[in-house]
Amino acid sequence: MAKMDKENKNDIVLEIQDLCKYFPVKKGIFEKKSYVKAVDKVSFTLKRGETLGLVGESGCGKTTTGRTILKLYNPTSGKIIFNGQDITNLSEKQMVPLRRKMQMIFQDPYASLDPRMTVGDIIGEAIDIHGLYKGEERTKRIRELLERVGLVGDHINRYAHEFSGGQRQRIGIARALAVEPDFIVCDEPISALDVSIQAQVINMLEELQEELGLTYLFIAHDLSMVKHISTHIGVMYLGRLVEKGTSEEVYSKPLHPYTKALLSAVPVPDPEQAKANKRIVLEGDIPSPIDPPPGCRFKGRCKFAKPECGKVDPELKEVEPGHFVACHLY
Ligand code: SF4
Repeated sequence: MAKMDKENKNDIVLEIQDLCKYFPVKKGIFEKKSYVKAVDKVSFTLKRGETLGLVGESGCGKTTTGRTILKLYNPTSGKIIFNGQDITNLSEKQMVPLRRKMQMIFQDPYASLDPRMTVGDIIGEAIDIHGLYKGEERTKRIRELLERVGLVGDHINRYAHEFSGGQRQRIGIARALAVEPDFIVCDEPISALDVSIQAQVINMLEELQEELGLTYLFIAHDLSMVKHISTHIGVMYLGRLVEKGTSEEVYSKPLHPYTKALLSAVPVPDPEQAKANKRIVLEGDIPSPIDPPPGCRFKGRCKFAKPECGKVDPELKEVEPGHFVACHLY
């Protein structure tokens, strides 16, 4: 497996412009149509070898963002540009050759692997769909992939239920790698695993990224999970990106009140530092994503809210080079 070419590091792999995914809500025939605005005007760019850690509470739209980028959902509006090609309106058939280059690792390693298939068939399925290897070569490739993710080549004939959660997630990673992707959506890949296994899986994903020049969108519900792997962080709240920047900037100088609250919940190893850090507890519920009211969507939970926040929806603005926030305080 070749090391990433240095000159390729500046290639833009993914460009997302004002991406929206709205789901219609069923109502009576005389009632006005409503929409769940699951993803609302999300924009970001990812270069080869970068990782965007996308964080936010359950239901904020991060998984829908990942699935819409992979065109598992058709976007409502906006643009998805992958390796320089606008794929927003490609049909399912036109997407087939591109599917190889855009893969997903799922959250639940128990549900995502078919218990009736052997590990060899699970990993080999995508190889067959794309006609990449046949016969002996196919078997050799599957064994190589199993070994690369820390399993044994002889596991090829076993069934998924014979493995632990961590091992199943490794099988899921091998399945994603089988078709030599450029970009992988990692949808909370460690949150269902034991804490002791989480670091191993993260380290492996980092090594694979370095070796193969992979680009990741790494979805997680809190900032501690994405800290080590992310070059950039995007914080989502109710379908919107409310802050984005390099990991260094967002962790050392969070701007949005919501990001500050999420960061205050990240465990700190130093007990003195932990005592000094005050946990910010968010009060109030997340509002409904169905036709959200005007103004800032965070206003009901924000102690800094001012009258303007109830009227004007804050735009995502660059307040320092590369550091963007959507908040009227800046
Ligand atoms: Fe709080 Fe207003 Fe900023 Fe929203 S725009 S986060 S309500 S200060």
